[in-house]
Amino acid sequence: MAKRDLYDILGVAKNATQDELRKAYRKLAMKYHPDRNPDNHEAEEKFKEAKEAYEILSDEQKREAYDHYGHAGVDPNSGMGAGMGGGAGFADAFGDIFGEIFGGGRGGRGGGPQVYRGADLRYALDISLEQAANGFDTEIRIPSWDNCEVCSGSGAKPGTKAETCRTCNGAGAVRMQQGIFSMQQTCPTCHGSGKEIPDPCTACNGEGRVRKTKTLQVKIPAGIDDGMRIRSSGNGEPGVNGGPPGDLYVEIRIKPHGIFKRDGEDLHCELTIPFTTAALGGLVEVPTLTGRGEIAIPEGTQTGKTFRLRGKGIKGVRSSYPGDLYCHVQVETPVRLSDEQKKILRQFEDALRDGGTKHSPKSESFTDKLKNWFS
Ligand SMILES: [Zn+2]
Ligand SMILES: [Zn+2]
Repeated sequence: MAKRDLYDILGVAKNATQDELRKAYRKLAMKYHPDRNPDNHEAEEKFKEAKEAYEILSDEQKREAYDHYGHAGVDPNSGMGAGMGGGAGFADAFGDIFGEIFGGGRGGRGGGPQVYRGADLRYALDISLEQAANGFDTEIRIPSWDNCEVCSGSGAKPGTKAETCRTCNGAGAVRMQQGIFSMQQTCPTCHGSGKEIPDPCTACNGEGRVRKTKTLQVKIPAGIDDGMRIRSSGNGEPGVNGGPPGDLYVEIRIKPHGIFKRDGEDLHCELTIPFTTAALGGLVEVPTLTGRGEIAIPEGTQTGKTFRLRGKGIKGVRSSYPGDLYCHVQVETPVRLSDEQKKILRQFEDALRDGGTKHSPKSESFTDKLKNWFS
């Protein structure tokens, strides 16, 4: 698929300033951010597209490569141009622009410790088709952080105190001079906290928090489908230096079912019937998600015939009526016949032959096709 022009994606002119690029990206990011568009795949794609475009165009070197060579100049797989550099992940983007957009934010330019929103977490939950159809409550265990009890979260050994970082004077950031550019960087001594701990707490290595496993109650709504995500607000990674936590996304994966295949709100199953039933007709039992059902097979039923059981599918998360169940007939050829049974079938075959092809509508039309083909 042809990639869209990066300037078009952001909706800016080719000579847009960094400020204009940034504004355009923020606007798109606000609109399409996954937090604001849960379960919206299109929005997610647009968000990714805008993020990628901004990542390239906001980097002067990559922008120049793109302006010269197009996507080939910045495609990490093309082996030319500036490349995409080391993976700027989801969390990095949050730390940068999203810290500002979604509450918390950096503690002002250069003043106070740098505050970041925690990264989002993803948890894959495998469930059965029945569980998806009916919904259920479950518990999941996720890794999380807890305040260290020994130091009450300060990170300093009990009886000692954290001091203001001497490298950055508590600002959390330092200015670096590189040629004519002056850049602001997270303080390498305190990693942005603005504090220095001369005597760290041994229980948490001075982090003030310890890894724990957290148990969460999750409600799986009836009708949920494969690939849908449930957002658990604030249960992602904790924020850095007091920033807001990320979110946890529980991604649903539905295990394959022995009988049913799901297609949205409809279900499909194969219905194997003996060839005698197919010929003579009869009642056959069919499985449904809620128990046993019955279908009256008319005489002369062929393989591939589909019977629909209205309302025996799945009711989607947002729908008022359940879908249907489609049973696809498969006529079974009998095997391991005794000599006696074979004899009966041969007699039967002879009896059919007397009627020509009138007992075999498919063969009849097939023979006609062959005739036309050869003539
Ligand atoms: Zn501690
Ligand atoms: Zn510092």
